[in-house]
Amino acid sequence: MSVKINARLNASVDRAALLWAPRAWIGGAWHDSVVLQADASGRWARIESGQPAPAAATVLPGPALPGLVNAHSHAFQRAFAGQAERRTGAHDDFWSWRDRMYGVALTLTPARLREVARTLYRELLAGGFTQVCEFHYLHHDEQGRRYAEPAAMAEALIAAAADTGIGLTLLPVLYERAGFAASALREDQRRFAADAGFVLELREAASARRGVLAGVAIHSLRAAAPASIDALLARLQGDAAPVHVHVAEQTAEVDDCLAAHGARPIEWLCRRFAPDPRWQLVHATHATPAEIDAVAACGAGVVICPSTEANLGDGVPDLPRWLAAGVPLAIGTDSHVQRAANAELRWLEYAQRLALRRRNVAAEPARYEGRTAAALFERCLAGGAAAAGLGARGLVAGARADLVVLDAQAGGLDTAQTEDVLDAWVFATDTPAVAQTWVAGRRVV
Ligand SMILES: [Zn+2]
Repeated sequence: MSVKINARLNASVDRAALLWAPRAWIGGAWHDSVVLQADASGRWARIESGQPAPAAATVLPGPALPGLVNAHSHAFQRAFAGQAERRTGAHDDFWSWRDRMYGVALTLTPARLREVARTLYRELLAGGFTQVCEFHYLHHDEQGRRYAEPAAMAEALIAAAADTGIGLTLLPVLYERAGFAASALREDQRRFAADAGFVLELREAASARRGVLAGVAIHSLRAAAPASIDALLARLQGDAAPVHVHVAEQTAEVDDCLAAHGARPIEWLCRRFAPDPRWQLVHATHATPAEIDAVAACGAGVVICPSTEANLGDGVPDLPRWLAAGVPLAIGTDSHVQRAANAELRWLEYAQRLALRRRNVAAEPARYEGRTAAALFERCLAGGAAAAGLGARGLVAGARADLVVLDAQAGGLDTAQTEDVLDAWVFATDTPAVAQTWVAGRRVV
């Protein structure tokens, strides 16, 4: 597939690879007076605390955090945010929301998708994310035919990422049936059809693009036949690319999987497909303790999407058990009803507090002074890197030079004690409270 869209980098082209932060979050703790130097390839070359600002350094205006990965996004759904908050019948649930969402999916062109994604990616950068994993299934034209340029919709996402400067992990999605017992897609799913061959074609096209990481995704166990998943996995042997899958988001999916396979979705996934650390189980809302142990044993990660799962009435994940089992954890904004990292981390913890009637559920008392925000941030920093295929992450030499500079004047941060800044960012702000965002050594917000 040839590339038809010449993405242009519009973001600021500051070349200030030498920065100085009054405080920076390094290895799970605040450090003062930090020199941060990126090399020409956009990776951290030197990070040193307790240093005066070099004369040539750009002085950052507030505390600096590593950028988080947004590990689950359907960018096109940003066009639909806020448009499904009405109930006109006796009942409303995930499935009626999905029917309405399909209506929006059927109208988007590549040009419109690029606009929507550009708006979204600017919001994500301003919300503390520096990398986004696109779970991309809106492949074909309005009639369900391949575009003349088959990757046209993927290219729209790649162009939007380049327009804004956000890092992109593109995950083309295997999608071929409407349910466990269905042999084909529904008519209103016609734009999504993709077999293993098409997924790999898109992945190859995306991998060839500078700065784009590419993996694959399986829409769900209900939407792809086992033989097709086998065919996709067979082509990825020895390949480190991430493999994402929606799983156990809704109880109806659990019931349907039990009826089709005599096992729950995560149970069956672990038994039938032998997932490994490349795998990212998106949502995994309805998981038994035995299923959580099975995921922990295989090394796969979990991606929780707190605001979307609340918006769609999915349920509350067993976060204490996922954390105790040591499963890598990441967050995603999925349908994009919220787009800021601090708000997602807050809702990840708040759902637990509401359900369990306890406080500081995610905290690890023996680490980070028992601070919940630090425990969640560190888990999601590492888990997000794995989900995106990014490798080393954080303010360490060799990691991509990503940085989020907090707005120290923002409400909630303005009155925070210095040691409480991360806690205040997650739990006491009404806004993203981000002053600047840097990706690969370049300022993009
Ligand atoms: Zn999703």
